[in-house]
Amino acid sequence: QVRALMLTQAEDKTVTATLRDDLTVQDLPDGDVLVQVEASSLNYKDGLAVLGRPGVVRRYPMVPGIDLAGTVVESSDARYAPGDPVLLTGWGIGEQFWGGYATHARVQADWLTCRPEGLSAQDAMAIGTAGFTAMMSVMALEDHGLTPEQGEVVVTGASGGVGSVAVALLSALGYRVVASTGRPQEAGYLQGLGAAQIIGREELSSLKRPLEKERFAGAVDAVGGETLAGVLSCLKRGGAAAACGLAGGSGLPTTVLPFILRGVALLGIDSVMCPPERRERAWQRLSRELPGTLYSEGVTVQPLAEVQRLAEQILAGQIRGRTVIVP
Ligand code: NAP
Repeated sequence: QVRALMLTQAEDKTVTATLRDDLTVQDLPDGDVLVQVEASSLNYKDGLAVLGRPGVVRRYPMVPGIDLAGTVVESSDARYAPGDPVLLTGWGIGEQFWGGYATHARVQADWLTCRPEGLSAQDAMAIGTAGFTAMMSVMALEDHGLTPEQGEVVVTGASGGVGSVAVALLSALGYRVVASTGRPQEAGYLQGLGAAQIIGREELSSLKRPLEKERFAGAVDAVGGETLAGVLSCLKRGGAAAACGLAGGSGLPTTVLPFILRGVALLGIDSVMCPPERRERAWQRLSRELPGTLYSEGVTVQPLAEVQRLAEQILAGQIRGRTVIVP
């Protein structure tokens, strides 16, 4: 028996989410590997999908959930055998292909990542796409040449999923982290994750000149919009911002001046189609370098039946850290 959250779309385009208990593995789409899902997670994109916002789900019926972790049950691909611990983020699951909000998923072997030794399914999903994106952002900044000696790094949307993992990771790597948040009540939480300083959301979004006083050597931006424009205006000469989110808007009201007068760089982050070798490297690093405080302070575990309520909360910017979903 398979339990799954299923999205269907009516003729008038309204989307309904139903918790189904009446499916079997025969109902799952084709694929090389059948995975028993032990955990999934809640990302901003899952919130959009579950509430039927346009642009995420490409076909119905759809099982949402862009992340999953569990154990292989059956495999027709030589790389995987029953009992293997695996995880999967992105590649279009929960958007084009059935995803992680279910007890079982049948997927392409190419999409799977071996779960690093010692990383439980729930810990992997405490990281999930958001945490993986934070790691990719850090790796992009490192590839650009960023080191802790160059100065402070700012993380925007800091109390959210990407933000929390970025704060914890950067701080563990020795960076002085400035956390930008619209929730001053989360200051203690962010300091616990390793933030050296907390600034209000508007401190960056209110910056209107293309070039402000140089301040940050690097940035991880989960917000976009005026916030990212503000970040770019106060990056130090040669600094870089990893643009990974749009929680505050997809626009970017800036000019070319930060790029041509200070040589700053805007690094785009796409976690969905990230190639397998880089994924493997990111997950190995996450399993080793993420401090325990992220798991103890930044993670909530919730059942599948709560997903709809949580979807509303994440779109309203009310979710702190990461949410693991157990089927
Ligand atoms: P999340 O947990 O909801 O975090 C987003 C955070 O942004 C919120 O917690 C909030 O932090 C801040 N925020 C929310 N609404 C805002 C607004 N109107 N203006 C300014 N700040 C606002 O979501 P997530 O799962 O971490 O994802 C964060 C973003 O990254 C999303 O846009 C998501 O689509 C994107 N993302 C992209 C990739 C990729 O591959 N590029 C992968 C994963 C996620 P504070 O309360 O602390 O300010």
